[in-house]
Amino acid sequence: MDVDQLLQLLRNDHGDRINDVAALIRMLHEHHEANNNDLFRDMLHEIGQLAAAVALDAFGHLFGDGEEAPVQPVPLQIPEPLRPTSLNELIQNITDAAQGGNTIKAVGTQHSVEWTDIGHIDGTQIDMSELNDVIHINRNVLNAVNQEMLDNRMICCFEAGATLAHVQEYLWPLGFRTTRNPERYRVLPNQTGCTNLSLSGTIATGAHGNGLTKPIIADMVLSFLLLTVNANGDVVQNQIEPEDGITDQQAFEAIHPEKNLIQDDNIFQAALVNIGGMGIVYSYTFRTVNAFFLTENRQFVTWEEAQDEIPELYNRNINEQEPVEGNLHSFEIFVNPYPMEPQGQVGVVICTLEYSN
Ligand SMILES: Cc1cc2nc3c(=O)[nH]c(=O)nc-3n(C[C@H](O)[C@H](O)[C@H](O)COP(=O)(O)OP(=O)(O)OC[C@H]3O[C@@H](n4cnc5c(N)ncnc54)[C@H](O)[C@@H]3O)c2cc1C
Repeated sequence: MDVDQLLQLLRNDHGDRINDVAALIRMLHEHHEANNNDLFRDMLHEIGQLAAAVALDAFGHLFGDGEEAPVQPVPLQIPEPLRPTSLNELIQNITDAAQGGNTIKAVGTQHSVEWTDIGHIDGTQIDMSELNDVIHINRNVLNAVNQEMLDNRMICCFEAGATLAHVQEYLWPLGFRTTRNPERYRVLPNQTGCTNLSLSGTIATGAHGNGLTKPIIADMVLSFLLLTVNANGDVVQNQIEPEDGITDQQAFEAIHPEKNLIQDDNIFQAALVNIGGMGIVYSYTFRTVNAFFLTENRQFVTWEEAQDEIPELYNRNINEQEPVEGNLHSFEIFVNPYPMEPQGQVGVVICTLEYSN
């Protein structure tokens, strides 16, 4: 294509606006003909500053015939994440990042990262997937009430990269789920529909609440170990819990001089649901409840009928909190917004989950 044809095509699309950049278009064409890629790129950039759409179209006309363009998109360079396998390794990774002047962020199973950029970072990314083990709790660091809870296995501690499936399997192994004695096993106070989610990603995003009486997964957390970096670039291990937390301060300080115990409601609440922006969580200590069975019932009704039932379900959900047979654990409502033929009514499935033996 000669330069006059190019100018005519651009004039067809952009009218007299191309007069301001016509001289530059001629030079662009010259660089293209001479295969002078650097000058071509600079000129394209210059035209783009004055008239972005004209530059884009000029580029399109010159390379629209399948000719290979000199300006190739540069693939985004995302460094491989680090996958520490121990607390010490994680601390070393954070120290290295801090000393190199890099920012650092952790990710769990990366479900949020699929549709938001909250896990992205220019610096160092830590993949928590290898930090997924149960952690032994030293009974002596707990206050008396919680020592008893620990003895009854109502308190548990896991590395933050463990998935909910992983934790559930530990608390109530699959092979024992047909037991007649579920109270001998433990489960998380609330469940998630999908269990391939890391503890830290689920907690950091405040996810998976199932209603007023079934709060978010973060609600079960009693204490957590958050790693931060101080002004000197040193990693600080903060064991954070509410003011009336589970830990005995004196015992903790004697046993864990390397850690900093913070018992403060505001800090606990603020740092727990942190969207990855407060540091890196290494572990969570959380409460469990006795395992239980649920029976699911599904009922297909019209939207009008559902409206009559919802207040009753709501009241039951608030009032029937004891995990005894017949009490309502939770309910879900699935609405199909497209009117059904031939009556034109909206269809609804009400799904109730009741405690059962
Ligand atoms: C198909 C699908 C269905 C879903 N269904 C529901 C639903 O029914 N209800 C609901 O509430 N949510 C739902 N979610 C949301 C889901 O719970 C969140 O996306 C959650 O963040 C997933 O956990 P993750 O481990 O994949 O998080 P990631 O995406 O890995 O991380 C999420 C955030 O946590 C931070 N983070 C992760 N690990 C750490 C750490 N160790 N220290 C500090 N910060 C950390 C990350 O930096 C990031 O900001 C769904 C998501 C998907 C993809």
